[in-house]
Amino acid sequence: MDTTISAKKSFRGEDYFGKRPEMSQLRCPICGYDYIHLDKPIYMESHDNYEAMGEFVRGDVIKIPFWCEANHYGYFYFGFHKGMTFYWADEVKDETIKVEIYDAISRLR
Ligand SMILES: [Zn+2]
Repeated sequence: MDTTISAKKSFRGEDYFGKRPEMSQLRCPICGYDYIHLDKPIYMESHDNYEAMGEFVRGDVIKIPFWCEANHYGYFYFGFHKGMTFYWADEVKDETIKVEIYDAISRLR
């Protein structure tokens, strides 16, 4: 079962080694570690009818699998709702889904 968590600390990373202050480093939303890998995003259509995520976002959702080198797995989400966009994350605890995420990310290397 996935556990919904705040993604806020994921976006508090340092700038890119002081060389590109406009760039921030994405971090694990669970532990804050900065060694994090992403898989291809999944686009979830909602037809402006709450079909992607149920009751709390009406519009489409972009879901991005991640793997943290401290052994955390999950998804980042960007969800559209009535003109606004929200972001959050899920921690994946199911071992089968963890393996699927790890394998998919490994294929991208
Ligand atoms: Zn982590």
